[in-house]
Order: sequence, then structure tokens, then C-alpha cells
Amino acid sequence: MRMTSRLTGALPAAVLLISAASAVSGCTQEKANAAKVAAAQETKTVTAKDTEQTREQTAQAVQKSDAEWRRTLTPEQYQVLRQAGTERPFTGAYWNHREDGTYTCAGCGTALFTSKEKYDTDCGWPSFYDALDKSKIVEREDRSHGMRRVEVLCRACGGHLGHVFNDGPNPTGLRYCINSVSLGFQKETPKEQAAVAEKPKG
Ligand SMILES: [Zn+2]
Repeated sequence: MRMTSRLTGALPAAVLLISAASAVSGCTQEKANAAKVAAAQETKTVTAKDTEQTREQTAQAVQKSDAEWRRTLTPEQYQVLRQAGTERPFTGAYWNHREDGTYTCAGCGTALFTSKEKYDTDCGWPSFYDALDKSKIVEREDRSHGMRRVEVLCRACGGHLGHVFNDGPNPTGLRYCINSVSLGFQKETPKEQAAVAEKPKG
């Protein structure tokens, strides 16, 4: 009994100590947060540099300085292709585009996808179950925005195209979810179709 009352008596002091401790930890927390923000900014810088380095490594055919890209691309293209941005869904030129032809890289003109592999989704971005030629694209892990995704880039210029997911239709089961702004389009003309048909074998 006596011990209990002693303990009770000691409580306010203990509470005081805890409050003091939490006040200190609150302060430390602020410092920690500031440090975290600083670290995050640092990481951001490092990641941006790394991305740039990777782009340089993958940029085999088309090499342009940042200033050149800014000059040759529209602000929207620059933001998506060079800064890995994402256009808002259902806003691009090609999400519900159904003409026959070839989709090219808006950065360098490389043919990347065709209307044959394009299919309708309700995601708001042009989607393809396969690329025209896998050697023309680069797929790499992307852990940005708290997600684990696979980023798709143009191999020739290192431009960001979009992401590839495993929820596509047969025969690949893949969904190349590509920003319209990263793409150009070359319509397949009847003349070209005829030329392909007439082309002698071998
Ligand atoms: Zn390109």
C-alpha cells in the first residue's frame, strides 16, 4: 500500500520527465525531419544525375545537350521525355487513336510501336501489347513515387516513353503504357502498303 502511494507520488515527476523527454525528442524530430528533407533533396540530385548518366549510356545514336533538347522539344515533350514526367490520362493525342501506322519516338523519330500491337484500354494512355522491335527500347526498374515499376525508354535518345506492366492481353500479357506526347505517328498510306506487298522476297 505504502509503496503504491509512493509510486503514485513519484508519478508527476515521471510524467514531467517524459514530457521533457518528448519535448527534446520533438526538437530532435524537427532536426531529423530537416535532415531527412536535406537527404531527400540530396538523393533527388543524385538520382537525377544517375538518370542522366544512364541516359548518356543508353544514348547511342542521338546525343543532345539539355539545352538542345529544351530547344527542339515542346515544354510538354521535354517534361515527359527528358524528365520522366507523365501526361494526364485521356489528354494525349493517341490514347484513342485508331489509324493504321507506326508510332515513333517524339525525341528522335525511331519507329517504336505500331497500330497492329495497339489495343483499347480504359487507362487513358496509348497501350501496346508489344514493341515493334525490342532492341529499340530499354526497360529498367523504376522505384520513383513509392512504386516499383518498369520504365520504358527509347534506346536511341534515352527519352522516357512510359512504363510496361504485366496486365496486358495475349500473346505477351504485357501493357506498354506510353505517353502520347513521347510519340509521333506515321500514317500507313495505301502506297506504302502496296510497296510492301510488291517488294520482292529476298
Ligand atoms: Zn528516341
